[in-house]
Amino acid sequence: NATRTAIAGLAAAGAPVVPEPEAKDLLRDAGITVPRGSAHADPLIAAQGLDGDLVLKAVSPTLVHKSDAGGVRIGLSRDDLPAEAAAMTAALAAHGHRIDRFLVEEKAGAGHEVIVGAVRTPGVGWVVMLGLGGIFVEVFADVAFGIAPLTAADVHAMLSELKGAALLRGARGGTAADLDALVDLVLRVNGLLASLPPEVVEVDLNPVIVTADQAVAVDARLVLS
Ligand code: ADP
Ligand code: MG
Repeated sequence: NATRTAIAGLAAAGAPVVPEPEAKDLLRDAGITVPRGSAHADPLIAAQGLDGDLVLKAVSPTLVHKSDAGGVRIGLSRDDLPAEAAAMTAALAAHGHRIDRFLVEEKAGAGHEVIVGAVRTPGVGWVVMLGLGGIFVEVFADVAFGIAPLTAADVHAMLSELKGAALLRGARGGTAADLDALVDLVLRVNGLLASLPPEVVEVDLNPVIVTADQAVAVDARLVLS
């Protein structure tokens, strides 16, 4: 179909990843909750129809870790967009990145940041990784692995393996995350993985923000080879 052809074309042209707006379209088609948003060269056009606090992101073929280079601004109003986009363009140009488009999306509510990843592994299939975001993955490498397709029981077992699992359940005065929504999201990732063409070798949803009532994939990276 059209999506597979588009991905094959990107891979053949040497693109390292599927651009974030198109990656999020694929997630949405797989029933995974992503922020409402759209991409355009003009951030005000991209912001049409969006409500509340906004997030501005650079879409650039050379920029993979956007926030490291100043490619993400969070909690903006519509009026902030032109000046923030101009500042972002200048900041990224200083790092040698050209911005093709701006992705403007709605800011997700506060919640726990979780990482859902998958790597295509010869002879095994998709190995799925689940972990807590931020310092938990970077410092403690607190992650659990499974092989797709995962069942709900598999996902619950992986969650229980995490040392930080109690935090998701609301330990230390935090809000309890909607774990059913997180499990549902991971089950929908099964479907996404099964639908991807062979050029896609890695999927990173980093982070998925899990609030008290939903799980939203606010970043999506589909790595091509
Ligand atoms: P990077 O390419 O640097 O990983 P992300 O898209 O993950 O960029 O954005 C960086 C951080 O900004 C995320 O880890 C998350 O904390 C926050 N963030 C990004 N998008 C949103 C959003 N729509 N709503 C709320 N927070 C967001
Ligand atoms: Mg990210």
